[in-house]
This record gives sequence, C-alpha cells and structure tokens, in this order.
Amino acid sequence: MRTVYVNGNYLPENEASISIFDRGFLMADGVYEVTSVLDGKLIDFDGHAVRLERSLGELDMRAPVSKDELLAIHRELVKINGIEEGLVYLQITRGSDGDRDFIFPSPDTNPTIVLFTQNKPGLADNPAARKGAKIISIEDIRWGRRDIKTVQLLYPSMGKMMAKKAGADDAWLVENGFVTEGTSNNAYIVKGNKIITRGLSNGILHGITRAAVLRLAREAQMEVEERNFTIDEAKTADEAFTTSASAFVMPVVEIDGVALSKGTPGRIATRLREIYIDESRKSAI
Ligand code: PLP
Repeated sequence: MRTVYVNGNYLPENEASISIFDRGFLMADGVYEVTSVLDGKLIDFDGHAVRLERSLGELDMRAPVSKDELLAIHRELVKINGIEEGLVYLQITRGSDGDRDFIFPSPDTNPTIVLFTQNKPGLADNPAARKGAKIISIEDIRWGRRDIKTVQLLYPSMGKMMAKKAGADDAWLVENGFVTEGTSNNAYIVKGNKIITRGLSNGILHGITRAAVLRLAREAQMEVEERNFTIDEAKTADEAFTTSASAFVMPVVEIDGVALSKGTPGRIATRLREIYIDESRKSAI
C-alpha cells in the first residue's frame, strides 16, 4: 500500500481524506503538477515548482508549503514508496471553510495539499514510444486560461475516450483551424530538420518538458520554429511528436488515419527522446 501526503501528514493511502466541501472536489478549484522520477530522482523539479507558483498566483491561491518543503516531501514520498521509475502527483486546492459557495472563502482558509506517487517501471524504456502514437483531431472547447494547470480535466478525459473509441491513442485539440496541444501534452511537427510547435500564450499549457526539449533541440543544432500549424499541415509533415512529464518525447505515427514517416517513429523524435532522457538523468535531483 502506498504512503501518501495530505496536509502535513504521511499516511497509508486508505487513511488519507479531505473534506467533502473541499473546493477542489466541488468546483475544480485547484491546481496540480506531475513530476517524473528516473533512477529514484526527480526530473525538472525546479520547472514544475516555478509553474506551480505561477498557477497559484494567477488564481490568488496561497502556497501551503515553501519550495524547499515541497522538494523534501517529493523526495520523502519517492523514498518511502521505493519509486525508481514513476511519477509524483501534487495537487493544491483552495480548501474549504465548511460550506459550498461560489465566493472564494477568506484568504486565511488553509489550502489543501495532497501528493502521491505512481510506480511506473519502464517509463524510460517504454514500448509505446517504440511503436509511436496514433492521434485523432477534435475541437478544442476548453476554457481560455489553459496556461494555468488546473484540475479541470473533464474535456481532456473525454478527448482521450474519443481517441480510444476511434482506435487511436490520443487526441490533438484544434481551435480556429490550428492545433493548440494534445489532451495532456504539447504537440509538434517536423519538416526536414525543423521542429514546429505553437508559441506560448494563454491558449496552451507552458510545458516544462517542452521548454527542456526545445532547449536541447537547439543545442543539438536542430531548427525550432514557434508558430501555429493546421492538422492538414501535420498530416503532410515528415514526423510528429508530443512532449509531457509523464511520457517524455512520444513519437506520433498517425494523424486522423494518415500515416506519418511510414507509420514508424521518426528520426528526430526518436533522437530527441534519447537526448531528453539522457540529459534528464544527468540533471535529476
Ligand atoms: N499540455 C497539457 C494540456 C497538459 O495537460 C500537459 C501535461 O499534463 C502538457 C501540455 C505537458 O506539460 P509538461 O511537459 O509540463 O508535463
């Protein structure tokens, strides 16, 4: 049984609880981060901590612990649960003052903080990455502040289910004709030696893996262009891929039934996955 962290306590998962009035539960009034673990160490922890602080700030939510405390909790959970490869999930909500109300509770109401680990042996050497992912496109009908990492994940969940029903692995979201991002990842196409991905705005989540992968790509003399692209452009690209903390770099081999790079993971996506995992292992803490 896992040990989880709830509001200052390390507890067996079946003894951890929060209030039924918690605004995370009633109103999706909460933010989260997912940090991956390789060799028992945290990948890109700083990036996730900085983005968390920003998400909290945008929602006028108080941070219940400092960045140093957060790191210590992450490390403790990884240690107690013996995670070599896996994920640490962190969620902070506005908590509750013991009733339901649209108005935010008083700012001195304690936020709720929950962390738990997910053991994922084979996260780095993932068979799914050797095969590549099949993608369908769906309309992006999410809210306008996708740069804030909130727990409002109903539409992304529905998108994954639509993909599954269509015999695919994931969905890319399209707004005004242009791809915004994947349901839980950032989206890229490759033309020649050039990597193309949408620029940062309130329209997409500012992926921590995205930032690292684009930096590593530039260091490896690959060209990076941050601009909008359509599904039609993606279907005729040489390659495509996604990035996220939980799947690193994931090659895409099919979009709306059209095979890319002969239906196998592309050269650049495969290379970027190797570089990202190697460099992440070196800088893990
Ligand atoms: N975009 C969305 C909508 C996401 O949910 C995620 C991750 O959960 C990402 C992008 C990738 O972000 P990161 O690389 O920080 O995991």
